[in-house]
Amino acid sequence: MNKKLIYITVLVAFCPLFLSCNNANQRNDNKVVNPSKAKQEWAIVIHGGAGVITREKMTPELDKQYRESLTEAMNVGKKILSEGGSALDAVEKTINMMEDNPLFNAGKGAVFTHDGKNELDAAIMDGSNLAAGAVAGVTDIKNPITAARCVMTKSVHVMLSGSGASQFAKEQGLEIVTPSYFYTKRRFNELQEILKKEKMGTVGCCALDKNGNLAAGTSTGGMPNKKYNRIGDAPIIGAGTYANNATCAISGTGHGEYFIRWTVAHDISALMEYKGLSLKDASELVVNGKLVKAGGSGGVICVDKSGNISMPFNSEGMFRGFATADGNGGVFIYKDEK
Ligand code: ASP
Repeated sequence: MNKKLIYITVLVAFCPLFLSCNNANQRNDNKVVNPSKAKQEWAIVIHGGAGVITREKMTPELDKQYRESLTEAMNVGKKILSEGGSALDAVEKTINMMEDNPLFNAGKGAVFTHDGKNELDAAIMDGSNLAAGAVAGVTDIKNPITAARCVMTKSVHVMLSGSGASQFAKEQGLEIVTPSYFYTKRRFNELQEILKKEKMGTVGCCALDKNGNLAAGTSTGGMPNKKYNRIGDAPIIGAGTYANNATCAISGTGHGEYFIRWTVAHDISALMEYKGLSLKDASELVVNGKLVKAGGSGGVICVDKSGNISMPFNSEGMFRGFATADGNGGVFIYKDEK
């Protein structure tokens, strides 16, 4: 009887300690936001590419420019979502801002192919009905993500490529530019040193709106020095882009060939749907487990139906940011940042 009493006393005394250790672990987790709190009314998460992005390789000016540009783009989506707009609008308009910004490898400022051209890929997906649209290898559409959305809503196809995609975009009244629009000499020279070593700067956005709908989008110039009209993971649904209201919305950035072969975005969703994994566990398993084992570098941003956000990457850095309805948020670049 006495022994039992001692046992219970010890258990009661130490129980708060175990619980507080657990909470401390959750607080220290720097990749997941809102792990167990109430559902967010809306949420947005963005990326501006992953790669060997370290403090040593960045100048303070470039660091500042990236943070300002990420914030500026995210504010567009935040406004749309907080005013009750759709996740799809938030994703498209946020990505438009980054496509127009020469800092990123999407739209203006895209990296160059082996032949000195800019060939752009983009995809968007609506998690409410699994509708999707993509364009690949386009050379004269100013905002490929908008073209991707038109493919989704105004065509019977999912992916259009090259000159056919341009013709379709023209018919839809989208802005067509001369291919030289994407080239900026000043930015080209300024970023040449980084870009020729790094495959970074792809942009992506995922959002949850007040109606509980999820959407994901990705836009990129692809890998620098690419050949033979190579197409990456960004426009491939299930590889670099995926959204499903039942699970989450995902946009990836990194070595596209690996994202295609490991069907990264859909794998994360499937782990949640079929195995019941949390957003954090599913995205960590794929990015820091499977991809690392395979030798595929990069990262993803994702948001689930409750507004939880996860931004795992296995490279040295990833331009990224998030905002949720409860006022939480921020932009980050390096590995050691929240
Ligand atoms: N994933 C893109 C591609 O392979 C490149 C990147 O994200 O940097 O085309």
